[in-house]
Amino acid sequence: MNAGVVAADHLITDAAGVLSPGWMQIQDERIVAVHEGRPPHDAPLLCETGGVVMPAFVNAHAHLALGTCGGIGDDLAYAEWLRHAMLPAVTRGSADREMFMDGAAQSIAMLVAGGIGCVADSFLDPVSVPLLAGSGLRGYFGLEVFGSRASDEAAFIADFEDGRELPELGTPRVQLGHAPHSLFTCPPKVMAAVVAHARRRKLRCTIHVDESPEEHEFFLRGTGALADHFRAAGMLGRYRCDTSPVRQLADMGLLGPDIMVVHAVQIDAADIALLAASRTPVVHCPRSNLMLAVGLAPVAEMLAGGVSLALGTDSLASVPTLDMFEEMRTMLLVQRGRTRRTTSLGAIDAFMAATLGGARAMGLEHETGTLEPGKCADFVRLELPRVVNARRDPVSRVVWEGQVEQVTHTFVGGRDLLAELSA
Ligand SMILES: [Zn+2]
Repeated sequence: MNAGVVAADHLITDAAGVLSPGWMQIQDERIVAVHEGRPPHDAPLLCETGGVVMPAFVNAHAHLALGTCGGIGDDLAYAEWLRHAMLPAVTRGSADREMFMDGAAQSIAMLVAGGIGCVADSFLDPVSVPLLAGSGLRGYFGLEVFGSRASDEAAFIADFEDGRELPELGTPRVQLGHAPHSLFTCPPKVMAAVVAHARRRKLRCTIHVDESPEEHEFFLRGTGALADHFRAAGMLGRYRCDTSPVRQLADMGLLGPDIMVVHAVQIDAADIALLAASRTPVVHCPRSNLMLAVGLAPVAEMLAGGVSLALGTDSLASVPTLDMFEEMRTMLLVQRGRTRRTTSLGAIDAFMAATLGGARAMGLEHETGTLEPGKCADFVRLELPRVVNARRDPVSRVVWEGQVEQVTHTFVGGRDLLAELSA
């Protein structure tokens, strides 16, 4: 295993800590020590010195298998996009798994090139898991459940409980869990059964929550396109339509640190209080929300309210690239525009959400997300352009100026995955 040192002009240990210059010692996949200054000149180097070294990004929401679905239905409204672009694409891929395998391989290559060392993936087919395990990335995969089309709900739940043991695909780096897709695709009884099944096995769940105005209207008032759809299918009675999705999950005991709530675009102050009190992490996907025109999530209010925030790209079906630099900047710019306050959100908040926040959401905060002794050697080296009179501190420079093209190394557990990819 690699043993050696990494030295940088700026070693960013976490959102609030920079050693300029700094270096760290790595042995057996882990960081053994972090120091200020320069290493002894005869120390064995794992990569070139100089530049910026920081924790590898944690992308807390993606669907890697959809990597070849970019541009399908680009300008459709959200509900039309789901029905007329995503559903046919997923049906096509289910008949021809090569499409999903190609998609996962493309997505994984983009993650590594972009300095992402850890990803939370979910999909209805575990096609990406062997690829993820083979890539050396750290991660979590949630197997998606869609229960809204079952003609007999009780039979669907019994089948799930009998037959949905997760395949033996997990590895020390890639953990498995469930992903009951959303409250509208998994009605309350199905959602409760899936989360209970996961909790009995100490697995995490990923749930898309309150992403679109259509979803919000349906759960709050029982009106709109989703209500029409479920009424026509004779299934409206399976749903509760008098309060927000977050309140419904809270009432069923389905919030908590083991539940990754994704999107939460339409939530209000009462929902934020429930998420914070239950220590439920929220994964914000700013560019996907903008591309699909579902609205602007109240991220500044979530942070002020004490919600644990992570950042995700979502899939290449709804964003052009899996790029955490772009996600950080978009989050900051959108929130400043929304709140009309420059102080509503800073570079540190974005950096935190893109690293330790994601690690916390995935229950991996003791393994990754910061550079400190004992943690895995999951780090990225960047070559930021030399700027005369650069006044920004290194964390701000990474957030405001960072580009995927500046990533020279993506190490996970002491392995340089970017070098392996280019070999
Ligand atoms: Zn998603």
